[in-house]
Amino acid sequence: MADVLSLVRPHIRRFQAYSSARSEFAGNASVWLDANENPFGSGLNRYPDPVHSSLSVLVAQRKGVQPDELCIGNGSDELIDLLIRIFCEPQRDAVLVVQPSYGMYEVCAAVNNVEVRSVLAEADFSVSVESLLSAAFPPVKMLFLCSPNNPTGRSMAAEDIALVARSFGGVVVVDEAYIDFAPQQSALSLLSECANVVVLQTLSKAVGLAGARVGMAFAHRDIIAVLRAVKPPYNVSVLNQQAALDALQRDGEIHEQVRLLCSERERLRSRLSALPIVREVVPSDANFLLVRVVDAAAMYRFLCGRGVVVRNRSSLPLCQNCLRITVGTPAENDALLALLEDTFYQKMLAP
Ligand SMILES: *Cc1c(COP(=O)(O)O)cnc(C)c1O
Repeated sequence: MADVLSLVRPHIRRFQAYSSARSEFAGNASVWLDANENPFGSGLNRYPDPVHSSLSVLVAQRKGVQPDELCIGNGSDELIDLLIRIFCEPQRDAVLVVQPSYGMYEVCAAVNNVEVRSVLAEADFSVSVESLLSAAFPPVKMLFLCSPNNPTGRSMAAEDIALVARSFGGVVVVDEAYIDFAPQQSALSLLSECANVVVLQTLSKAVGLAGARVGMAFAHRDIIAVLRAVKPPYNVSVLNQQAALDALQRDGEIHEQVRLLCSERERLRSRLSALPIVREVVPSDANFLLVRVVDAAAMYRFLCGRGVVVRNRSSLPLCQNCLRITVGTPAENDALLALLEDTFYQKMLAP
């Protein structure tokens, strides 16, 4: 892989050189009169650590990388936007996405006036490396792989991700929001070999901090330095950094929750598969199931009317009549199953 910084938009490269040349205070001090804060207060009166030092050290240790190989975002959604802004020249470069996949890649590209190209997944929702690579040529500068994929739950094989990363001359973003639910190994192991890979993870799903907005980008330290230069300086609040530190200390408890959710996923999958009103339940490596039913709109309305909200994904390519159902607590899953297994309602929902 050639120098990854050569992929960065030229004006960002110049801007980064300027901002890192500024000397920041780096000694010990007890009197802080530099940031126009109110000195009377008990914690939240001070701005948060802009480089998230404590959190970065803990995440690095948990993930087996160096602290300068990761950047914390206000959710991984912020990092998706930053990556597009760093690498893609509006109206010139393009991003490549798989259909169906997570919608934010397209939203962020559209907001930044960057063209979106797409390749369709196979009928079984697997992603063909050949079709990806056959579309990965200029002006495509950045490619988004979501594994396990939202909304299908399917993972790409680690060898396939590696092959894409080695073959494509642009940036390969691997979104691993659901990796904790998957048997697959993380693409983090690719980082030492492939300087063009950025791995996104989040504390929003398995770790249970969706309300706190904490996402992580892992990449070559040169890319991380650019992300840190471009991000809003105080993008993760004191409260959110503390919540993330606390959650990561309780990883035994979270591991147990993930195990339970995976076993509930398989229980839901087999019970739903047995229903005559269900056509297909896609095998999932995430904490949700994509379920093809005879009439998704009718089932969605039926469930809503009884206080159970799922996501209708029917408008996405290949997802006609598909609902995406998040795995809940055992009691929540029982409530869903009780509604759908009721024979009276099955007649109502049948074609
Ligand atoms: C939920 C989700 C995210 C969002 O993560 P945040 O850290 O909450 O912004 C990113 N990618 C995918 C594929 C997701 O499903």
